[in-house]
Amino acid sequence: MSDSPTNGERAPAVATPLVQKLAARIRQHGPLPIDAYVEACLQDPEHGYYRKQTAIGGGGDFITAPEISQIFGELLGLWCALVWQSMGGPDRLRLIELGPGRGTLMADALRASRVVPAFHAALSVELVESNRVLVEAQRKALASCGVPVEWHDTVSPSATPTIVLANEFLDALALRQWIWRESGWHERAVGLDDAGALAFVEIPAADDREPAIPASLTNPHNGCIFESRADVFAALAAELKTSGQPFAGLFIDYGHSEPAFGDTLQALHAHAYADPLRAPGEDDLSALVDFAAFGVAARDAGFAVDGPVTQAELLGRLGIIERASRLMSANPAKAASIEAGIARLLAPVGMGTRFLALGIRSVDLSALPALEPVEMRPPRY
Ligand code: SAH
Repeated sequence: MSDSPTNGERAPAVATPLVQKLAARIRQHGPLPIDAYVEACLQDPEHGYYRKQTAIGGGGDFITAPEISQIFGELLGLWCALVWQSMGGPDRLRLIELGPGRGTLMADALRASRVVPAFHAALSVELVESNRVLVEAQRKALASCGVPVEWHDTVSPSATPTIVLANEFLDALALRQWIWRESGWHERAVGLDDAGALAFVEIPAADDREPAIPASLTNPHNGCIFESRADVFAALAAELKTSGQPFAGLFIDYGHSEPAFGDTLQALHAHAYADPLRAPGEDDLSALVDFAAFGVAARDAGFAVDGPVTQAELLGRLGIIERASRLMSANPAKAASIEAGIARLLAPVGMGTRFLALGIRSVDLSALPALEPVEMRPPRY
């Protein structure tokens, strides 16, 4: 995902090594449902995008909030310290980040939260990362952070109070798509066209793969698309369950707070949108996050849910303006770039509103900081 990518020309398909592998799989087993296609493109052990590419930053395919401004990670670090206080200041705390990218967010969070020494002393950090190139970047970024850091492929169970941070992680999880036709819902899949090239096709929805359409979505029109990550969200929420210990998680991503119809699967290549079938394994693939669906999965797993609020609201409530002015006074030479960075994070027609923040927590914990629902302001007369 990118802040504001350009609209790329529809580029001709690229014969990546993964194309051969996918075509063989399709010939043998039939079309691949979208979730299997996305999973292969992102996580194929040999050729998957998130197994090898550097991806993030100016030289990669997209840029993320922590790479735009150090203040993003700093404020999330302070958020974690506040949550730890609301947990009663336990003397051990697991701080997990899902999909930590270049390690920038965590490095900024740990540096800023040194102002709460007892929080720092309690910390052990766990990074859940599938990309070996990025693990090396994270190792460098956190080399002198002063806190023990471990890497894992998934969230491991533990009986320790836990805080989870995830920025632009949910959008990279595989999703399924269905398309409405007069005969009913059909699953969208990737097959082969007459020339043997990858092409979107429609297959009958198998009984155990019927879409669970939310009640608020009615009257689909012909060709209307419904997307869902219900299964992966349920699996993630179940993984996050800690046994009787305080738990809080903060998920920030571009998405929508209410269920909606629409095809949001997109590929990004060098900061421009591309066809999702263009270059499997070499372009980033992602899709909007349905925060309502994530909230349902979290509640079903026994969590309470706070938010979502927009990224601008979250950062505003955590004091981004005050922090930026202090940083600008201390570094006058960098004032313009600091200001440009926060303007981008808060942009009303951009990251500030397209990105949402949702909190999940153990039910006995108080509501998470900065995620209270936005107050309805009384009308002015
Ligand atoms: N949070 C970072 C990076 C976002 S990009 C930032 O804000 O800059 C998505 C991140 O999730 C990358 O680090 C990617 O390698 C990782 N990732 C994607 N799918 C994953 C998976 N299934 N398991 C673990 N990490 C994953």
